[in-house]
Amino acid sequence: MNVLKFGGTSVGSAKNINKVIDILEQYSKKSKVIAVVSAIGGVTDKLLACGYNAQLKDNTYISDFNNIKDIHFNILSELIPNTPQDISDKLQTKLNNLKSLLDGIYLINELSPKTSDKLVSFGELLSSFIITEAIKSRQLKAKRKNSQELIITNSNFTKAEVNYNISYNNIQLYFKNTKETITILPGFISKSTLGEITTLGRGGSDFTAAIVAAALDVEQLEIWTDVSGMYTANPKLVKQAYPIAHLSYQEAMELSHFGAKVLYPPTIQPILDKSIPLVIKNTLKPEAKGTQITKAYTSNTLSVRGISNVDNIALLTLEGSGMVGIPGFSKRLFETLANHKINVVFITQASSEHSICFGVNAFEAELAKTVIDANFTYEISQHKINPILIENDLAIVALIGDNMKNHQGISGKMFSALGKNNINVRAIAQGASEKNISAVIAKKDVKKALNTLHEAFFEIKTKQLNVFITGVGNVGERLVEQIKQQKKYLKDTLKINLRIIGLSNSRTMVFDTDGLPLKNWKMLLKNGDPASLDGFFNQTKAFNKRNSIFVDITANKDVANLYSKYLKESIAVVACNKIACSDTFNTYNELKYLSRKYNAPFLFETNVGAGLPVIDTLNNLIASGDKITSIQAVLSGSLNFVFNNFNDTTKFHDVVKQAQQEGYTEPDPRIDLSGVDVARKILILARESGTTMELEDIANTSFLTKNNLESNTVEDFYNTLIDDEAHFQKLFTQAKDNGCKLKYVAEFNNGKASVGLKEIPQNHPFYNLEGKDNIVMFYTQRYAEQPMIIKGAGAGADVTASGLFADIIRIGND
Ligand code: ADP
Ligand code: ASP
Ligand code: MG
Repeated sequence: MNVLKFGGTSVGSAKNINKVIDILEQYSKKSKVIAVVSAIGGVTDKLLACGYNAQLKDNTYISDFNNIKDIHFNILSELIPNTPQDISDKLQTKLNNLKSLLDGIYLINELSPKTSDKLVSFGELLSSFIITEAIKSRQLKAKRKNSQELIITNSNFTKAEVNYNISYNNIQLYFKNTKETITILPGFISKSTLGEITTLGRGGSDFTAAIVAAALDVEQLEIWTDVSGMYTANPKLVKQAYPIAHLSYQEAMELSHFGAKVLYPPTIQPILDKSIPLVIKNTLKPEAKGTQITKAYTSNTLSVRGISNVDNIALLTLEGSGMVGIPGFSKRLFETLANHKINVVFITQASSEHSICFGVNAFEAELAKTVIDANFTYEISQHKINPILIENDLAIVALIGDNMKNHQGISGKMFSALGKNNINVRAIAQGASEKNISAVIAKKDVKKALNTLHEAFFEIKTKQLNVFITGVGNVGERLVEQIKQQKKYLKDTLKINLRIIGLSNSRTMVFDTDGLPLKNWKMLLKNGDPASLDGFFNQTKAFNKRNSIFVDITANKDVANLYSKYLKESIAVVACNKIACSDTFNTYNELKYLSRKYNAPFLFETNVGAGLPVIDTLNNLIASGDKITSIQAVLSGSLNFVFNNFNDTTKFHDVVKQAQQEGYTEPDPRIDLSGVDVARKILILARESGTTMELEDIANTSFLTKNNLESNTVEDFYNTLIDDEAHFQKLFTQAKDNGCKLKYVAEFNNGKASVGLKEIPQNHPFYNLEGKDNIVMFYTQRYAEQPMIIKGAGAGADVTASGLFADIIRIGND
């Protein structure tokens, strides 16, 4: 004998019901089969909504009813084309009864729990009728038995308690005498000892199947649903979740108690008592192995077996000095709750006994407060305790596993992963059995928390990075292309799943919560929404994704001003924009502080030397205990280009013009030639070396003439360069006569920094610097005689993009 249960989705359409029948056909070739069926997917909710409207005297209940009627007739006619009249008539009669009940509810303006059970029972009564007829129409032998005649309960409507003795007897007796190959039982519904219609609680068809399986002591119970087993986390919220091959009864029970809806929690008890294995299978994918749930099972690989969540929790706190050391407070508290049938999902008590904190389902919070405050009226009036405090909009996430107690550091890892992603934990509970560690968090953070924990405990090998890029111009385009090209390599080799979630240039912005498809990203961006800096921030924040990284590839002060907002949301910032780090020391320092406080990396390697690993090297030197004594560097690609090409056969004006035309200078070349850009770079290196310094503190002796510096427009400036050609030629000749070349040098020595044009002698490392190359020499305590030198291309879209890329990967490797 096999007992199979098919849930709402499995019987949600004619197509799926045919799949169910295929499965039953296969099974019935080997032995007798009992199939417990749910109402057609969504019908229970529809019945309740319809009854609710009727009770409000809202006429829409009639259209709600017609909708329910259509659903059933449509499925019937699809399953049995040219449905014989007697079958249609029978369905119509049942629906007429439902309509009469609804009219009654409308008339008396009331929907009691008792009537509600009568109302929802139609769901399973109708589905089991249709399914049985469909099976018969496929020339298979099947009979429907109303499980209300078998499963007997008390009168606790909407969630009745089963009388196992009577029910088991009924079931055994019935199946001893039946010869049917396939028996269809409606799930969920039952009758009280007084003959009233009752139900076993929402999701209760699983329970019906377990009761039948236990009564008949079958070899195995199968629950067929719309997913391939019990997953490591709710697959609708965690994409990377996967089915767990094997679980113990306890683990399955904890997972379902803490929200894994795939199994109704009371289901386990009857089969556990008889050690009947339970298998969860997928009706839509019968070949998938599913999940096996049996007695003790020890996984030798993972101690955390699953993660679950319960939404809509309220946290209640009973607090007061009058509680300390006085026994009986908890007893009274929980007795009061039990007397009012309020389910407590979560308890923690501080060891000071000054407060007890517990979680209940949100809809019961007000009732809980009222009854507890009433019970403690005297103590409250004496100010020994405070009235109950309610916190709403909370949820629970829980790690579950039998074997967690044998592994250290699980809670540490759990809370550090949550903390790193800015998920605030309001309360924590860990059962003494250590099969469960639960945390109460804000409801809005549930998805992020589940994904964070799933990544920490189940995807140890892959880390997902969610990147939001603003400023997709020349460099940005290169970055997106590099990411596109490297995506597979990163996943396979570095176990980093890098996704671009948001992209923006100055005109448009575009987002995709699952990662933008990079094949046609330009098109997507072009057709995106109008760009806005605040809009971009708000959207990035709203996604609330773990490991979010904001990448700034603009040179815009307004964007730099937003870094603090990103960091405060624990969103990492990667920038090639120098403005923030070369702003006031306070601004720089504040960003560093926020980065530490919110566990959000702030990386800006490309501020100095584009893709060259200058800042990272400097940080590593300092982190390993070295001290910077001096930095000497050529940090401007544009000035290098200018002085490498200027000589006694060229004109200074022409060389600058060429540099501008070839894209080595800013549109306004004065920014480069005045040395401000280089000053900003050495300022950043000085600050990273541990010095408090402002831009004004940097000595900047300009090689330009007063005339050049005072020019009003770029055009004027170029004219003054022509006028002052002699001045530049003089600089060149003097250097040449001294056997030197001109280089624009930045220096940092004993806490002081300067920038300026220098004559570099032949034996100096700067002498042979080519093209747009940069060079940085670090003299430190350890590199005292020979400096550590970093040299290479210090400008260009490709190398700058790869520097940004390296910062992103650095976060991934964290
Ligand atoms: P049925 O109608 O078959 O009884 P349910 O809707 O009651 O199905 O349960 C299946 C659903 O449970 C899945 O579609 C999934 O959304 C949800 N679910 C929540 N947590 C889990 C989990 N850990 N594993 C599998 N499914 C889960
Ligand atoms: N139809 C009922 C419900 O939706 C019972 C079940 O499907 O298990 O809750
Ligand atoms: Mg269910």
